Amino acid sequence: MSEGPNAAERRAELAAGLARVEERITRACDAAGRERREVTLIVVTKTYPASDVRLLADLGVRHVAENRDQEAARKAAECGDLRLDWHFVGQLQSNKVRSVLSYADYVHSVDRLRLVTALDAAARRRGRGPVNCLVQVALEKEEAGEGPPGEGGGRGGVAPGGVPELAGAIAACQALRLAGVMTVAPLSGAYAGRPGVAFERLMEISRGLRQAHPAANMVSAGMSTDLEQAIAAGATHVRVGSAVLGVRESLG
Ligand SMILES: *Cc1c(COP(=O)(O)O)cnc(C)c1O
Repeated sequence: MSEGPNAAERRAELAAGLARVEERITRACDAAGRERREVTLIVVTKTYPASDVRLLADLGVRHVAENRDQEAARKAAECGDLRLDWHFVGQLQSNKVRSVLSYADYVHSVDRLRLVTALDAAARRRGRGPVNCLVQVALEKEEAGEGPPGEGGGRGGVAPGGVPELAGAIAACQALRLAGVMTVAPLSGAYAGRPGVAFERLMEISRGLRQAHPAANMVSAGMSTDLEQAIAAGATHVRVGSAVLGVRESLG
């Protein structure tokens, strides 16, 4: 594939974005007394083209994330020759599970039992190693009471009280591996504007989970604006998009 005239420029932009984020992660680890290798950077490439994914891989990125299946499937196919792990972080419908598992080895957004059943069935069909599943926790649902999933603006995630049951269901599936927990800092409710407090609560939930499932030690938290707070709390994976690639034009 020949690179366009702007490829060198874009490569430099992405390299600078990565360097800034790397610096922030390193500082946050230092401040928290953690080793840099305890935190994995996942670059969220949604809304950006496959050519950016290619440049990122060339710059040393090993983990990328997407939140919409249609877009992700196309990009993953275009990047099939690259050594990358694909993470799915968006709300997932059961009828998209088969497609998602054709490229993703990590699903961060498991938030209901029906999805567990669908993921297990698709993972068995696919038959190449277990799929890593994270329980997405909606911290704002703690106060709101547990409405049906998707209620109130359609943000994903299970209420904290629902984590043990969902985790148990994942752990019972042969084709799935219970990897840990994920959250997005709430924009409303008691945690709004307090990502550090939200991430501390997620860590508490993670500790509870690990008592029953010691290997489920992934904690996926922190984005462009709050990765420092996530690392301070103990996140093992940060999901960073705009701070690396630039501010997205459309909401994604
Ligand atoms: C878009 C997205 C991110 C990255 O957000 P930025 O603010 O661009 O860093 C992280 N996690 C999820 C679930 C997302 O949808």
